[in-house]
Order: sequence, then C-alpha cells, then structure tokens
Amino acid sequence: MTTPAAATPVVGVLALQGDVREHLIALASADAVARPVRRPEELAEVDGLVIPGGESTTISKLATLFGLMEPLRARVRDGMPVYGSCAGMIMLADKILDPRSGQETVGGIDMIVRRNAFGRQNESFEAAVEVRGVEGAPVEGVFIRAPWVESVGAEVEVLAEHAGHIVAVRQGNALATSFHPELTGDHRVHALFVEMARGNRRAGSL
Ligand code: GLN
Repeated sequence: MTTPAAATPVVGVLALQGDVREHLIALASADAVARPVRRPEELAEVDGLVIPGGESTTISKLATLFGLMEPLRARVRDGMPVYGSCAGMIMLADKILDPRSGQETVGGIDMIVRRNAFGRQNESFEAAVEVRGVEGAPVEGVFIRAPWVESVGAEVEVLAEHAGHIVAVRQGNALATSFHPELTGDHRVHALFVEMARGNRRAGSL
C-alpha cells in the first residue's frame, strides 16, 4: 500500500565541504527528506545523494579521508541517483582535463570536464539557461568558478548549454550542472532530481 508519506525519498547531501545547507533547504522544498551525509553508514541509508559545489580538490581529499570514496563509487555504480552541482559535477566526471595532483573523482558520467573553465574575466556570473526536463521559464544559472563539459560519451544526454558549452548533463541516474540552482530559490532542478530519487526509493525506508 502506498501512502504519500511512504513515497517521500530520503536524499542525502555530501557534507564534507561546500554549500551543504542550501541544498538541504532546496531538497526539503522539493518534497524530499533531506539529510547531511558524512559517514559510509549514512550514505547507505539514502535513496539519492547531492554532491554540492565548493572546491572539488578538497571534497575529493576529504572523501578519501572519511572512507567515503569507495562507498560512493559503489553506490553510483549500483545506480543510486546522484546530482552534482559545480564542484559536484567535477566529482561525477569520469575524467578531469586539468586535475590538481592527487585529485580523484567518484565518476559515473562519461564526460571530460574542464575546471574553472569560464576564465578569470568571468569568474562568476548569472545567465538564463534552458534545461531539458525543466518545464517553464529558463533556470537562472549562477556560475561560480564553474566547470564546463568539454566532451561527452554516447550514453550522456546533454540537458543544457551556455555560450556554446555544455553546462548540464544526465547519464542514467546521474545528473550534473555547472551552475548552482540551490542559490536561487527556484527549486525545479532539485524537484527533477527528487523525482529520480523517488524512483529509487528502497523498500522499508520511511
Ligand atoms: N572551481 C571549483 C572547483 O574546481 C568549483 C567551484 C564551485 O563549486 N562553485 O572545484
């Protein structure tokens, strides 16, 4: 028997570094139960996970230090819905064009990303972005030292471009954006992800 409460997915936010709080708020507004995730046991209990923006080198090092890198790879490989924004997009890339030394990724999306791609002149800016799968007006994209996607494999769906560069992609249950929808108060991208997580809700959770 399904009740509305039983359909509510539990969505974690990887809480090692970055704008964790904003994602928790956006997810709660998009009808998910949102929780910070810092330990492998917490990762095991979520139906989906957001990897926030911040600094991908730091997130990578902390994920290794906290024993989360392998569990993250395993869950993504198993098809857990995962959404990465900005540094989180970098974490989901199978390959980084210009990694810092020791920088690793979780992977999951067959793409090559370029870090800080928009250059010094354009360190941060806002732009209206049409995102496939998000109905209505374009999303207000907030780009902060953002990556872009240099190239994608055949399995990757391009969801958005800005200035001729790919800025949102999806491969199966993995979603990534160069920009930060958690900073705008418009929760349509989070709602899209919560729907992906709802599809993965494990029997027995909530
Ligand atoms: N430039 C950062 C990095 O390479 C990403 C910036 C962000 O997440 N806002 O990790």
